[in-house]
Amino acid sequence: MGRVNDTKIALVTGANKGIGFAIARGLGAIGFTVAVGARDDARREEAVERLRAAGVDAFGVALDVTSDDSVAAAAVTIEQTAGRLDVLVNNAGISGRTDGGAQDPTTLDLDVVRTVLDTNVFGVVRVTNAMLPLLRRADSPRIVNMSSNMGSLTLQTGPIMAAYAPSKSMLNSVTAQYARRLAETNVIVNAACPGYVATDFTGFNAPRTPEQGAAIAIRLATLPDDGPRGGFFDDEGVVPW
Ligand code: NDP
Repeated sequence: MGRVNDTKIALVTGANKGIGFAIARGLGAIGFTVAVGARDDARREEAVERLRAAGVDAFGVALDVTSDDSVAAAAVTIEQTAGRLDVLVNNAGISGRTDGGAQDPTTLDLDVVRTVLDTNVFGVVRVTNAMLPLLRRADSPRIVNMSSNMGSLTLQTGPIMAAYAPSKSMLNSVTAQYARRLAETNVIVNAACPGYVATDFTGFNAPRTPEQGAAIAIRLATLPDDGPRGGFFDDEGVVPW
């Protein structure tokens, strides 16, 4: 009642390519209006055009998750365009440099650690906290943090990458903190692992498609009100911390 537009709005960060683009297309296909968060103007506009050509109601939002100013401006853009936010998918992420032993723990380049944390963890906090006032206006707000099973201390899987893997462990931990803080609200927060997906990130040398990688994020973005909170999930179910 009293709402101008009942179409749900989703913001996907890093939506110009890879898994983020597939999440945007998948959410658009089930009726969401999608805010395409991307830092590069040309790449963002091209993605918006491709999504519109696929029938998605998409609009671009300039968004560099490492910049306080950019994130604040993105929140203003979404408020002015949509007035609220139903779903936030924190998908933007980087692996960080690996040359010269930069992510070998015994020769770890701390500048690489800082850079990776700034995007993969602090970026999620920046974007989430800027968007929470808009999310709180929605009836069933959902936040999905795109993590990785490389961040699982139980599985200890994938190559040794002492900046990237710990960044996802910390993201998982931050996800749990948000879920606890928001436990008494209607905001549901979870972390997702997309599996090993063929994107720029993996040099397109991985078995899963971006659509397959997107599926768990879409599921968590559309959880019912009694859905799980503060968990870590992939297509198979719970991923061990
Ligand atoms: P891609 O490299 O294909 O895409 C990453 C996206 O993040 C791009 O849109 C990129 O934008 C964006 N991005 C990076 N830094 C920033 C920033 N500072 N501000 C805004 N956007 C930014 O990777 P994937 O699609 O494969 O990965 C998506 C997520 O999934 C990541 O969080 C990754 O860690 C995670 N993941 C991926 C796996 C895989 O097998 N591919 C496995 C497990 C987890 P730009 O084009 O401008 O660089």
